[in-house]
Amino acid sequence: MLQMHHIAKVYRTETVETAALRDFNLSVVQGEFVAVTGPSGSGKSTFLSIAGLVETPSDGRYVLDGIDVSRMNDNQRSHLRNQKIGFIFQAFNLIPDLNLIDNIEVPLGYRGLRAADRRELAHSALAKVGLSGRATHYPGQLSGGQQQRVAIARALAGTPPLLLADEPTGNLDTQMAGGVMELLEELHSGGATIVMVTHDLNLAERAQRIVKVMDGQVSEIQRGTRLHSLD
Ligand code: ADP
Ligand code: ADP
Repeated sequence: MLQMHHIAKVYRTETVETAALRDFNLSVVQGEFVAVTGPSGSGKSTFLSIAGLVETPSDGRYVLDGIDVSRMNDNQRSHLRNQKIGFIFQAFNLIPDLNLIDNIEVPLGYRGLRAADRRELAHSALAKVGLSGRATHYPGQLSGGQQQRVAIARALAGTPPLLLADEPTGNLDTQMAGGVMELLEELHSGGATIVMVTHDLNLAERAQRIVKVMDGQVSEIQRGTRLHSLD
């Protein structure tokens, strides 16, 4: 699903150069649930931005779902991003003055789907996260955990082949975090490929593989507690 070969990323300002990633190598196969963890500043967000076609690597090769995206221009990358990637953010990033269904439809709008199809996909995604009855509610009427479920519905509505989650439980208390994690596990059981960045080692443990990042490199890969369907 995702292969990164010798990826480097250097951020340059007028005065400073920061090597955020250097010789970063990682493969994620279809249907895998991978947690990426490591100290603040180690390069996790940078990895996720490159994986999600938001940033381009300074060097190295990135193959997403069989497509070499290393040399794509901005237009090609954003087109592919809309087709291939569902994002889940720490801060949910729902639009406060759109109701839940309209929020979920936002990314579907970039995929050239007809209005009726968008609506149907959005309702089915909302049902998947257990919030069917709330279609016309607004984000502010929901708890943080519920808002994150809506954000997850938005990410999965177009059935993108890859879900990327950046600290998806970072803004939630332990109980709501547990609920969101269970939802991700359920989606994984249904076949989703998930890459989740988290500081929380207890959550990381629940993935199939734990990728530890240190100083812009993969320092260690461990097995998590979640069973491999290929075993
Ligand atoms: P993490 O997500 O693990 O905290 P990041 O990927 O955000 O790490 O950052 C890795 C390094 O790259 C840090 O030193 C950070 O300050 C730097 N960095 C990240 N994004 C930028 C940017 N847009 N401009 C300059 N430096 C950046
Ligand atoms: P996280 O909490 O996920 O580790 P960070 O706080 O490291 O994220 O970064 C948040 C955002 O700020 C990211 O988009 C990152 O690219 C950007 N960023 C991080 N460090 C710097 C920096 N030194 N200069 C500019 N932007 C940065």
